[in-house]
Amino acid sequence: MQAAVLRAIATPLVIETLPVPQPRRGEVLIKVAACGVCHSDLHAVDGDWTPLPTLPLVPGHEVVGHVAGLGEGVEHFRLGEPIGVPWMYSACGTCEFCLSGMETICLKAEATGYTKPGGYAEYMIADAAFCGRIPEAADLYEIAPILCAGVTTYRGIKRTGARPGQWLTVIGIGGLGHIAVQYAKAMGLRVAAVDVSEEKLELARQFGAEMAFNAATTDPVRAIRESIGGSHGAVVTAVSPRAFEQSVGIVRNGGTVAWIGLPGGKQDEIRLSIAAVVNGEVSIRGSSVGTRQDLQEAIDFAANGLVRARIEKAPLADINGIFARMKKAEINGRVVLAIA
Ligand code: NAD
Ligand code: ZN
Ligand code: ZN
Repeated sequence: MQAAVLRAIATPLVIETLPVPQPRRGEVLIKVAACGVCHSDLHAVDGDWTPLPTLPLVPGHEVVGHVAGLGEGVEHFRLGEPIGVPWMYSACGTCEFCLSGMETICLKAEATGYTKPGGYAEYMIADAAFCGRIPEAADLYEIAPILCAGVTTYRGIKRTGARPGQWLTVIGIGGLGHIAVQYAKAMGLRVAAVDVSEEKLELARQFGAEMAFNAATTDPVRAIRESIGGSHGAVVTAVSPRAFEQSVGIVRNGGTVAWIGLPGGKQDEIRLSIAAVVNGEVSIRGSSVGTRQDLQEAIDFAANGLVRARIEKAPLADINGIFARMKKAEINGRVVLAIA
């Protein structure tokens, strides 16, 4: 099979021919149809995070395909059925986090396309217990980004606690953010958008954002405070530490920000006003991908037409060029690799 492989950190991916893997007990073999290109894949390749990914690496964790082989004991998937693989490859299932519905923070979790081979390949193995069920009628290319961008922003919005009728600011309207705007609208929230590109702000408006501010030319904190007194919640998907600093001022007193973006490396630290957090009783919550239940709910929104990724299809061989465009923030929506 063809796969895009990272042999050393911060080098281009190389298309190689690898043997088709075989599923073991509890695993499925998947014939990959589509895989979204998430900024986390670029962080993996660039070595922005600690610990570094397991090399050699096949990235990709917004995977949709069909079941091509069943390991022993797998009974809840059929051969040929559509299936999705998220970032959370597996979690231990027995720790305090797994037992309390917080499997996203399991210390023994494995990550698709980071610690395990992912979907930049014609075939991959997944843990059947952690795969998503994809409706037969779904457009596989459009639904692929839901496996990460979708579930992650859906959970992030929930973690702000913002209720229908309240304001949510989506900071960063990239692959994650343009989908976050749609979940927020579908969940009955009013949306303000912040990015540094007019094209992306226009996309946010098309998806129902009532206000959109360009952080390169305006102070979004001031603009949002002046127009609505600050939003009730905010999600930060921007790959910029400045956006995280601003998020605390963008919410009104009592507001909650959910941090999703992971700039990493030298960009991992910020400066905040302690007084702004204390006096405004602002909550800051981290939000890491989503549980299996979050994933199934996030897929349902998309299957019901409430959320639809704006996608651009590309062949696997284009991957290094796609990463170069992503670095310059030149992708509007999500690029999805059309693998089969
Ligand atoms: P992307 O490159 O598609 O989008 C990033 C967006 O941020 C771009 O639209 C860019 O214009 C915008 N931006 C840059 N600087 C900004 C600023 N100062 N203010 C506002 N917007 C700004 O990336 P993506 O695929 O959407 O991923 C975003 C981040 O989320 C990455 O760091 C990724 O690793 C992370 N991520 C985290 C999780 C999680 O579980 N927490 C899951 C998936 C992705
Ligand atoms: Zn991702
Ligand atoms: Zn666990």
